[in-house]
Amino acid sequence: MIIVPLGVASATPTAVRHLPSVALWREGDVHLFDCGENTQMRMLQAGLKRSKIENIFISHFDVDHFSGLIGLLSTLQLQRRDRALNIIGPKGIKEYVEWNINFTNTELSYDLSFVEVEEDFESQRVVDEDEYYVEARPLNHTKFCMGFRFQEKDKPGKVDAEKAEALGITDDAQYKALKAGEDIELADGKVIKSYDIVGHPRPGDSFAYITDTKYCPNAVKLAMNTNILYHEATFSESLADKASETGHSTSGDAARVATEAQTKLLVIGHFSARYTNPFVLLREARAKFFPAWLATELRPIYTNPAQEKGIVQQKVYIKEIDEKSDSKPSRNKSYDKGGGSGKRFRKRRGSSDRGDDRRGGSRRGSQSRRDDSSGERRRRRPDRQPKERDYNSKDYNNDNQSTSRPPKHITPRTPFDNFDRF
Ligand SMILES: [Zn+2]
Repeated sequence: MIIVPLGVASATPTAVRHLPSVALWREGDVHLFDCGENTQMRMLQAGLKRSKIENIFISHFDVDHFSGLIGLLSTLQLQRRDRALNIIGPKGIKEYVEWNINFTNTELSYDLSFVEVEEDFESQRVVDEDEYYVEARPLNHTKFCMGFRFQEKDKPGKVDAEKAEALGITDDAQYKALKAGEDIELADGKVIKSYDIVGHPRPGDSFAYITDTKYCPNAVKLAMNTNILYHEATFSESLADKASETGHSTSGDAARVATEAQTKLLVIGHFSARYTNPFVLLREARAKFFPAWLATELRPIYTNPAQEKGIVQQKVYIKEIDEKSDSKPSRNKSYDKGGGSGKRFRKRRGSSDRGDDRRGGSRRGSQSRRDDSSGERRRRRPDRQPKERDYNSKDYNNDNQSTSRPPKHITPRTPFDNFDRF
């Protein structure tokens, strides 16, 4: 499973943060948790296909959490979707969607199926498929709000093919039966137990989405032993009063839930617009729980961290923070990450380097310039002449002959950007 935060703002968007939405990608399908304004745009930018959406979960009726829903449904209509779409939300979601669709006299080309959750419930399986299920529980906000847990069901254990062959199993149907946990009898009357050749079932991955709540025991239940817990951290500890007044969590609350639930990875999001730099929230969360990370829009998070490297081909490399922009990257050289071609030292004054002479200024500089005005500099000069470009050439815009461009460099704004993850 891959989790992609699409919007990590709370209440109001900022110049760099969008309204709440988190996408979960699994086996080609997309499941959306909340659908703030701009969700469909962020999906495009994340490279997630809107046609692949299977379920949309709406946690509660604060406008920022569902304001993108109607626009997204309309786009799916224009894309001529014909698969059914599930929308899961508090009671009233059906009325809201249908009213909007009727208002515009639209006839949808696809079916909508709704799961409406009434206020007084303890826990409910809102989706139950062959390979996964989604559980909802009420949270503690100023209005009715739900948290969700997406759980893959256990996968069957691996079949020991060599052992099976040695025991004389050749038929596919026999393999299947053994894998499904049944014992079989061979033609010669020998009985083979399923557990002889099938290993232990492998646990499925899990993800919990907890947003818009104070600290709440139900959040711990939903997040118990998850691979990834996405928890809101709207405020820092210094605004704990404001958090409890508005029904939100501090980063400390998020870390507390993560600790009690023993999740493998805490990701905090839903930041108040007052934090232009949310690292203050991360620092507080990390003081109480590790590993904790900031949700960064469009940066994927894998339930299995071992898969993170190698699958996604980065288009942009982060430049080492200590590397000064000392040289234009030479495009003739094969590119190596981080420009590790060794340090370049500036030459001393009086050397034949032209750049240094200019800095040397005064008499001494001009002296040395006169000194080396012979050999070396004259020899260099032809290189400095701008080459004439061939307007018909494919490489017209390339400075050099090499056609493969090195990846762009970006400079990290914070030391946290230097980590491998996020
Ligand atoms: Zn919210």
